[in-house]
Amino acid sequence: MPRAHAATSPPSAAPARPDKEPFDIDLVFRLLREATAGLPKAAMFALRDRGHGSPFEQLVAALISARTRDETTTPVCLRLFARARTPEAMAAIPEPELVGLLAGATFPEPKARDILALSRRIAEAGAVPDTMEGLQALRGVGPKIAALTLGVGFGRPAISVDIHVHRIVNRWGYVATTTPERTMQALAARLPERYWIEINERLVPFGKAICTGLRPRCGTCLLLRQCRQVGVVRPG
Ligand code: SF4
Repeated sequence: MPRAHAATSPPSAAPARPDKEPFDIDLVFRLLREATAGLPKAAMFALRDRGHGSPFEQLVAALISARTRDETTTPVCLRLFARARTPEAMAAIPEPELVGLLAGATFPEPKARDILALSRRIAEAGAVPDTMEGLQALRGVGPKIAALTLGVGFGRPAISVDIHVHRIVNRWGYVATTTPERTMQALAARLPERYWIEINERLVPFGKAICTGLRPRCGTCLLLRQCRQVGVVRPG
């Protein structure tokens, strides 16, 4: 990914509004930390904090999390990692047993096949790939899973854009994009690199509890003076 521009560059995606303060990304992140302090963490970060932050565990957890709620992903991963935490141990699990361990997650059968395939490949290679390209060459791994693995597992600058990140940064007016993929590219060109991992950590719980898809809670939102509320027609 290209490197980010200046730390507090104003958003170009939305016009200035007299009722709003200049957009300051450092202030926004300080407010986000405050706003999300008491909220449940996104699954990858919750698992990392519980000792499952290795690149391999983060990769498997990110794959399991695809189209699965965090409330389900975390217990499914904890159950799986109690059985196997390394590529070698994971690859040795019989497929029917692995499908059973994934019960509750979406698409357990194809995810089990993907996990077995990538576990075998990583066991043969001796290490989890540490590049976007290398990770996406693994079966079942797309840009979001690769970015989460790089960011949370390896601690490398990588932006993972899910539906919450995509929706919220567009509402801020920080980017003006139509797909998560384009949001990832726009953020890579604009967001200071020190926030690349943290943006997912903050905006997933923020998007679930405050800047929700329907009727975002703008009336009590700490970011109201900064956010341009682009496209928000019925704030809560
Ligand atoms: S002011 Fe409203 S639209 Fe903007 S971040 Fe807060 S909840 Fe979301």
